[in-house]
Amino acid sequence: MATDDLSAAPRALATEAVHAGREDLAGLGLHAPPLDLSTTYPSYDSREEAARIDAFAATGALDDGPPVYARLSNPTVARFETALAKLEGTESAVSFASGMAALTAVLLVRASLGLRHVVAVRPLYGCSDHLLNAGLLGTEVTWVDPAGIADAIRPDTGLVLVESPANPNLRELDLRAIAHSCGSVPLLADNTFATPVLQRPVESGARLVLHSATKYLGGHGDVMGGIVACDEEFARKLRQVRFTTGGVLHPFAGYLLLRGLATLPVRMRAASASAADLAARLAADPRVSAVHYPRIGGAMVAFETVGDPHEVIASVRLITPAVSLGSVDTLIQHPASISHRIVDAGDRRSSGVSDRLLRMSVGLEDIEDLWADLDRALSGSRAPEERAGRRTDAVS
Ligand SMILES: *Cc1c(COP(=O)(O)O)cnc(C)c1O
Repeated sequence: MATDDLSAAPRALATEAVHAGREDLAGLGLHAPPLDLSTTYPSYDSREEAARIDAFAATGALDDGPPVYARLSNPTVARFETALAKLEGTESAVSFASGMAALTAVLLVRASLGLRHVVAVRPLYGCSDHLLNAGLLGTEVTWVDPAGIADAIRPDTGLVLVESPANPNLRELDLRAIAHSCGSVPLLADNTFATPVLQRPVESGARLVLHSATKYLGGHGDVMGGIVACDEEFARKLRQVRFTTGGVLHPFAGYLLLRGLATLPVRMRAASASAADLAARLAADPRVSAVHYPRIGGAMVAFETVGDPHEVIASVRLITPAVSLGSVDTLIQHPASISHRIVDAGDRRSSGVSDRLLRMSVGLEDIEDLWADLDRALSGSRAPEERAGRRTDAVS
């Protein structure tokens, strides 16, 4: 949905996080946003319905009339889109069933115009890398360093794709310089790791901002979604692709994501403070050979172990050894085994993703409890009951 109150005084992000997408609630006599699970909507005027469908097919614009069908639009999902657009500082945002569905829609929009070539900078999230590298959507990719972007652009280049800080090693890029190198080719910045709390890529010249909403926007590890924040012109194309390919966000997911946005600024700030502290402790630790922590901050820490990283994964007890990130609880995983397994080992290593790298998503637990768990796990020492063998009782 387009944001319309451009005349209103700008409000701080923390205020928008709580109020955006909810502007009409008081007028409706409501406090919490309603959850609309309808798949279809009654209409007694099929002539008017025909005209509205024609208008959408021609332009991808959504009017203010009642919804028609849930694959076209949903009021609860629209609230989340309005709010995220506000936080990212874009006209519009279009949501999808997952981050990968969102990236797929962007690639299809460009490919439908014959612009099948993509320029991308590694590392990217493993599945994004694979989607491009395998050419599953009929696209072709050229991998470059940021300095090589301008030279790699061809007449059929439809997109430049970057992540900063990047998954999994938190490599940071100069988005402003990259946007400049892109010329008229749209730059898509995956902002999943930074969130609009730390960075708003459109202010640096990105045309498209992608989120795996599954991560920080949801924030509780219980909802999957994706969203692209952009100008209304691109959003119309994305809505048309979404309508015909069907990768829609479920309304309940939209409800949870809107709810998640309200606490995004406080969650990000609290988790970032702990992550910065843990990064400093790891940097001073002889069992750790390298620590990656972004200049802009954030709740992700990546580090390389001197010893076997698999032992750390096997030894954590408070921290959950699991893929994904951005939840209220702390997760750790080994990218070479899990999140980036699907990327060719040579490509992984040459883009700075070492086999000894661990990626940790810091949550909201007490910092000393987190450090105690990490400290013990780095020594490869299992909890006492583990060494004794947990199942002894059951078999005896
Ligand atoms: C997880 C992730 C994705 C993919 O999102 P899904 O919601 O899992 O489909 C894309 N980009 C980044 C940076 C991610 O971390």
